[in-house]
Formats: sequence, C-alpha cells, structure tokens
Amino acid sequence: MNLVLMGLPGAGKGTQAEKIVEKYNIPHISTGDMFRAAIKDGTELGLQAKSFMDKGELVPDEVTIGIVRERLSKDDCNQGFLLDGFPRTVPQAEALEAILTDLEKKIDFVINIEVDSAILLERLTGRRICKDCGATYHLVFNPPSQEGTCDKCGGELYQRADDNAETVGTRLQVNIEQSKPLLDFYQEKGYLRNIDGQQEINKVFGDVEELLGGLK
Ligand SMILES: [Zn+2]
Repeated sequence: MNLVLMGLPGAGKGTQAEKIVEKYNIPHISTGDMFRAAIKDGTELGLQAKSFMDKGELVPDEVTIGIVRERLSKDDCNQGFLLDGFPRTVPQAEALEAILTDLEKKIDFVINIEVDSAILLERLTGRRICKDCGATYHLVFNPPSQEGTCDKCGGELYQRADDNAETVGTRLQVNIEQSKPLLDFYQEKGYLRNIDGQQEINKVFGDVEELLGGLK
C-alpha cells in the first residue's frame, strides 16, 4: 500500500493521514518528520539539510530527494507508506518515480482530498493550532472539547498569523497553481484518485477506506 496524499491547506489532509496510518499500520512520512529524523540520526544528508534550514533557506531538491530515498529504503516501508508533503513539484515526482523503480516499488494511489476554494477559505480562518504538540482544531468542524485548550496535551491553542482572511486567499491561489501540474502528472500516470473532502470527516475517511479496500 504505497500512497501519496495530496490536498490544499485546510482540506483535512492531516486528519485523514492520521486515520490512514492508524488503520493500515503504515508509516506516515511527512517532509518535516523526515528532515527531523535525518538530522537527529546525523546522516550526511541530514547535516546538509540542517545547514540550509539553519540559514533559513529552502533545502535543495537533491538533498530532499536523497532523504526521501533513505527513508523509503527502511524496513518499515516494506508493507507500504503514506507520503505527505512530498512531492511538491513535477521534478520531485519524477525523482520519486526513479527512487521507487530502484526499490522495486510503485505508487498505488495518489489520494487528493478535494475541497472547493470558497469552503477552504472558511475553514482556514477558523483553524486553531496547539502551541505545544501542533494538533489542529477548527472552531466549527472539529472544535476542542474545552475552548482554547488542546485535547491531546492540554496546550494552548492559537491562530496562525497567516490564517487571517486577507492572506489566506492569496496563499490558496498560489497553492492551487503550484499543485495543478503535479495533479496533471499523476492523472496522466493513472495514480490520481480524487476524494470529496467536503463531507463530514468520517465520510471522507469512508471513501478512502473504500478506495484502499481493493488493494489488499
Ligand atoms: Zn497539544
């Protein structure tokens, strides 16, 4: 079960990722976690990534791709994986194809959680994030049981500065334009599966389960 998860900010990608890895017992491979692990392990590529991040620069593709290759080569990926946040561009997607070919694997599905941009705008401005553990909530769709407090760790919830209405629209448009070539690439490969992300969270996951049920 080799999966790539895609979705615009606010589409509910993080929530679905949690549910997928829990139910199917595959590792959740997000770019941030991958970088942190490589840096912690002190690998050559990890140290290279760190030197760019310390300078506040983007980690170049060759380093990122090397880290993805190392991560996907680990034993815990033998039964599958869920890639989240990578690839972001067509060149990265092409590099991923090459890595998987070397490892004698292939992508089963690219799951794209689809939500209309007007609804994303509404969702993004209601988002609250835990200062301590990074868990995300929504004032309307997924509120914490106690206002302003994280259910998981008791941390304080805050609104990201760039979650305010003025900047959200611009950011969404940029994301839509950037993801379009990648979606087209995976459509052409035959991997792309669009899931209606405008339903209730468990219904969205129900559609994901229906899709993945055919794999085993
Ligand atoms: Zn928390």
